[in-house]
Amino acid sequence: MDLFIQYVYLASATMFIIGIKLLGSPTTARRGNLLAATAMLIAVIVTLVNRDVLNYGMIATGIAIGTVIGAIMARTIKMTAMPQMVAIFNGVGGGAAALIAISEFVRRVTEGDLSLVKQHEEIAIMLGTLIGLVTLTGSLVAFGKLQEVITTRPITFPLQNIASGIMFAAIIGMIVYLVTVDFNELVFYVLIGTSLLLGIQLVVPIGGADMPVVISLLNSYSGVAAAAAGFALGNLALIVSGALVGAAGLILTQIMTKAMNRSLVNVVFGTFGATSGSGGGNGVVETRTAKGASAEDVAVMLAYARSVIFVPGYGLAVAQAQHQVRELADLLEAQGVRVKYAIHPVAGRMPGHMNVLLAEANVPYDVLYDLDDINDDFKNADVAVVIGANDVTNPAARDEPDSPVYGMPILNVDQAQHVIVLKRSMSPGFAGIDNDLFFKENTMMLFGDARKSVTSLVTEVKSL
Ligand code: NDP
Repeated sequence: MDLFIQYVYLASATMFIIGIKLLGSPTTARRGNLLAATAMLIAVIVTLVNRDVLNYGMIATGIAIGTVIGAIMARTIKMTAMPQMVAIFNGVGGGAAALIAISEFVRRVTEGDLSLVKQHEEIAIMLGTLIGLVTLTGSLVAFGKLQEVITTRPITFPLQNIASGIMFAAIIGMIVYLVTVDFNELVFYVLIGTSLLLGIQLVVPIGGADMPVVISLLNSYSGVAAAAAGFALGNLALIVSGALVGAAGLILTQIMTKAMNRSLVNVVFGTFGATSGSGGGNGVVETRTAKGASAEDVAVMLAYARSVIFVPGYGLAVAQAQHQVRELADLLEAQGVRVKYAIHPVAGRMPGHMNVLLAEANVPYDVLYDLDDINDDFKNADVAVVIGANDVTNPAARDEPDSPVYGMPILNVDQAQHVIVLKRSMSPGFAGIDNDLFFKENTMMLFGDARKSVTSLVTEVKSL
């Protein structure tokens, strides 16, 4: 029986890997998701049959509560709140792994003969607890920042990094003590408290613009915590699935660090994003005025252009204007305008956010261009239309060393002959800093909700 179960776990692990491979392309992603979910279901069923389950009633209650909460959230969540939901999922994943590790600790202590506990299991329990709890509280802070109930600006205090260093050293000291000297309950509970604090402490100093890196790193942590819990339980399926999430999250973190032009070492030690500059604003009250434009002016400009580049950002997701943008692009193309879309890797609030939105409106993939592939095209474009994007176009990232976004590669929209920015006001983006782009000579603002603005553009272009 045991061998059969291990084979089933192996089959599930293989299905996970194929599932991840299928997630690599939008056309096969849905199938990949379904395959991986089926693999998890099989692994769960087999585990329930195999293990010495003490109380099926409790498990059924847990599944029922989780199913109801999950189903309600999935049905009611707004597309724009998806990143927050991902942050919560990371957090509860880490929290669940930590609870497994903690209950394994308690079980071993209450069962008595600690000499029988294998050292690698003890290490796994400690790591599962530490990483799981750091993921839990770190993700809750990330949720707060994404939901904007916590300021998106870095929250810093003197000697912050030293405090984190002391906490981290204390945690390592406690783990070494617990594993090599004594499985002491009091020390373990202090370890729990310190880990919870460390998660908060690591994420609060991170500024809004750097959140993509943090979110993908927390995603990776949740996988590592699950793998550690798998070692503590001796469960192969949990080890493999946790390791896959950990590795995938780490790859995503690397992609994000590259997109933000940050180093992974800075990310791991949480010393980035804590600069105090204010980007284009420098704390000085803005006295310049941006030039406004009417939908009619912009429509004429677009209809007579040879090449137009659309630059989508978070505001496109808020306005849900992707279908109208597609309609506008179709109209322009029908009039011989060359239309491209420039996709910044951290535009929106989650990796791939813009790709998902535009795919929903069936925008063909071959007109979507990554930052590196399109940046040189802006100088030859007649019009760049910035739709609800802000930070990813901020020239401060290129030109102002004091800015918190300095060094982040941006889309060089300011190099286009004309720049049209669609947004509702002069408010800053997620990084909370002003954007000089809005005051450039070649920039005009089309104020209003992006969906309404693009709809008016469609009407105007049709009437020309
Ligand atoms: P920003 O958050 O910089 O700007 C979005 C802009 O959209 C705002 O300035 C807002 O201006 C405008 N907007 C909002 N609603 C509407 C609407 N209905 N119609 C028109 N405009 C609207 O977005 P970007 O995509 O440029 O940058 C993403 C930011 O988020 C970066 O700082 C990135 O680091 C961060 N981030 C990204 C993550 C990722 O994985 N992609 C994860 C976490 C953070 P106004 O209110 O005036 O309309």
